[in-house]
Amino acid sequence: MKIELAKSYGFCYGVKRAIKIAEEHPHSATFGPLIHNKDEINRLKKDYDVDLVENIDDALKFDTLVIRTHGITKENLKILKSQGKKVINATCPYVTTPQNIVQNMSKEGYTIVIFGDKNHPEIKGVASYSVDPERTHIVLSAKELIGLPLGTKVAVVAQTTRKPQQYQEIVAALAVRVAELRAFNTICNATFENQEAAAELAKRADVMVIIGGKHSSNTKQLYSICKSYLDECYHIENESELKPKWFKGKKLCGISAGASTPDWIIENVVKKIEEIANNEL
Ligand code: SF4
Repeated sequence: MKIELAKSYGFCYGVKRAIKIAEEHPHSATFGPLIHNKDEINRLKKDYDVDLVENIDDALKFDTLVIRTHGITKENLKILKSQGKKVINATCPYVTTPQNIVQNMSKEGYTIVIFGDKNHPEIKGVASYSVDPERTHIVLSAKELIGLPLGTKVAVVAQTTRKPQQYQEIVAALAVRVAELRAFNTICNATFENQEAAAELAKRADVMVIIGGKHSSNTKQLYSICKSYLDECYHIENESELKPKWFKGKKLCGISAGASTPDWIIENVVKKIEEIANNEL
């Protein structure tokens, strides 16, 4: 049986960068998880003594804080700095961009519309950069724009992981409602690259293994995309879940992994599948 990895899989640029930054700052704490993968968070703790804190009170117990890829609110950043903490910013540059846009455009008097989930840490952070919270609106669909006091000048940005088609609908709805619209494409391509590569492989493979946290939404999405092309798809967190019967009589095993799956977990899975394939021979 041949084993083939999708052309694009696993960690995105922002996560790789954040992990490297955390490794370069041992004995610190990350403000919020750098990635949704408990094995990787445990590894950072074990090998580099990098802790994880989820709120400002716990963050203040550490001297050095590494800011997660999704960013934090402007207020929390200010508190950390005012308390003399060493702040290492690992916010993904694709997240810093909408933060800066929201700050600059709100200063210029534009009403801000943010397409995203108001409970997501990235969106809480982006929205906090507006100088006018009263004129900052977070929506999940074009329908939610109805009745909002938008004024005549609007600037719109999107959460990095949102679907482009839904963003287009929001931009189109705004374009006919306001006199001046500034629409910024702040969607990140990393997730789509992994999805397209996994779909391409699922069309050719006769069994697919998708590796990633059971709660990782982008891994679940990869799994459901592959499943739409191939019935024999399996979502696992690590090699201990592999079952030899999945590979019996198969010619091509495709592998993909969610954006928060570290390379060492993927390597362990590939090694175990190779062992299973060799035993069958
Ligand atoms: S998915 Fe995109 S925006 Fe999010 S951390 Fe990765 S590169 Fe940055």
